[in-house]
Amino acid sequence: MSTDQHRWARVRERLRAEVGEDVYSSWFARMELDDAAGDTVKLSVPTRFLKSWIQSHYSEKVLACWQAEDPSCCRVELTVRSSIMARGPAPKNKADEVPLQRDGREIRLDGRDLRLAVPGPVTAVHDALGGSPLDPRLTFDTFVIGRCNTLAHAAAKQVAQGRRGEPIMFNPLYIHAGVGLGKTHLLQSLAWAGNHNSDRKVLYLTAEKFMYGFVSALRAQNAIAFKDALRSIDVLVIDDLQFLQGKSTQAEFCHTLNALIDAGRQVVVAADRPPSDLETLDERVRSRLAGGLVVEMGSLGEELRLEILKAKAAAAKLHHPGFDVPPAVLIFIARTVTHNGRDLEGALNRLLANSKLTGHPITLEMAEREIRDLIRPQEPKRVKIEDIQRVVARQYNVSRADLLSSRRTANVVRPRQVAMYLAKTLTLRSLPEIGRRFGGRDHTTVLHAVRKIENLVNTDSALAEEIELLKRQLQE
Ligand code: ADP
Ligand code: MG
Repeated sequence: MSTDQHRWARVRERLRAEVGEDVYSSWFARMELDDAAGDTVKLSVPTRFLKSWIQSHYSEKVLACWQAEDPSCCRVELTVRSSIMARGPAPKNKADEVPLQRDGREIRLDGRDLRLAVPGPVTAVHDALGGSPLDPRLTFDTFVIGRCNTLAHAAAKQVAQGRRGEPIMFNPLYIHAGVGLGKTHLLQSLAWAGNHNSDRKVLYLTAEKFMYGFVSALRAQNAIAFKDALRSIDVLVIDDLQFLQGKSTQAEFCHTLNALIDAGRQVVVAADRPPSDLETLDERVRSRLAGGLVVEMGSLGEELRLEILKAKAAAAKLHHPGFDVPPAVLIFIARTVTHNGRDLEGALNRLLANSKLTGHPITLEMAEREIRDLIRPQEPKRVKIEDIQRVVARQYNVSRADLLSSRRTANVVRPRQVAMYLAKTLTLRSLPEIGRRFGGRDHTTVLHAVRKIENLVNTDSALAEEIELLKRQLQE
């Protein structure tokens, strides 16, 4: 064992002693040391949830335990390990290979991604065009409608029912929502229904598939084949567009998008953010994407979560007749697993696995034990840029107009920088977007402000404290 690993073993023992065996085994058992060179220790955990939980509850403790063993350590960095090992069978060919990590984000690789598409005329056409596999469970029948997704659902349904030659109502249709809120479910429903109901061909592609399958297939062919391929598609559906990267891929995407829209074909896109926040895409593509119908799906309310759980439990029962989930357990899950649809599904899968393995009936006690780690702390409040400007202006005794103005006197410059810094750290807004909201400034100005404050916070403890206070006010 290396010195680092020895040290890591001692740090773990300290942690275990400090937090107790239960807490330790719940949160730290799967934490691994990746690197301890320099003054930064790099640790990893297998899931995003573990990462955020440890960060919000134990980051100081972990750092303190390291420092007790190694005083030169001043930072602990926690990352999510890529799930290469969990990947399963090797991909059949190059085009099926997808990167496991992009931008440090985890790409979901659960059973669904590995499932073979069901055979049949619908997928035969779809597969021939190089589409991503469709999950037979993700259809309009199993999609539960609630306040947060009514409009997106109606728009998707409308697209699915369209017929060749009919005028197109909105093009492109752009749906955005956070992780696990039903984008893929809705898009795949559209692809199934669209391919079933009419003479049209709907092609569903993840952005990865578009980059590594579709584009390279097109490149290998000549321009005429490219046009033929495009002509045969009536509806192009692209999921997770935020993962589209690379200049030449973008050019292909832009070309495809324009060719299809100009030829009167429907394009549907989903992403985790609005078009204006797709920073890697160039302005023309963004405005083209924003030029159709842009619909956001909000977070799932408790009632909708319960309906989704009921639907999923009923669907699971078809395959596993003994799978009886008492209503109280469903209510418990709907109330406590608040984050997104993916965790709801994960919770049910745990119960199913447990009841299969042990043969015990599902009870509330079992549910509480099994899904403990899926229960998240209250979602942090969404902070708005206006609120930041208001609170910062009040704190520094300047007006909001001053913050947005082009005045460069010291008494407004610093508050403005603080406000920009808070906008970057407390919201998901991009630098250009923040610049626009601060009186139409350039994104480099925002970046400069963010870096400036980041540096100052490390040396100026009064400012650091002030910023902590502002953050707390904004998040309350
Ligand atoms: P996204 O693509 O937005 O990250 P998914 O479409 O993969 O999210 O949804 C995650 C899980 O939640 C899936 O199991 C999906 O079936 C379920 N889900 C989300 N929204 C709904 C809904 N409205 N009705 C039924 N299931 C839903
Ligand atoms: Mg998705």
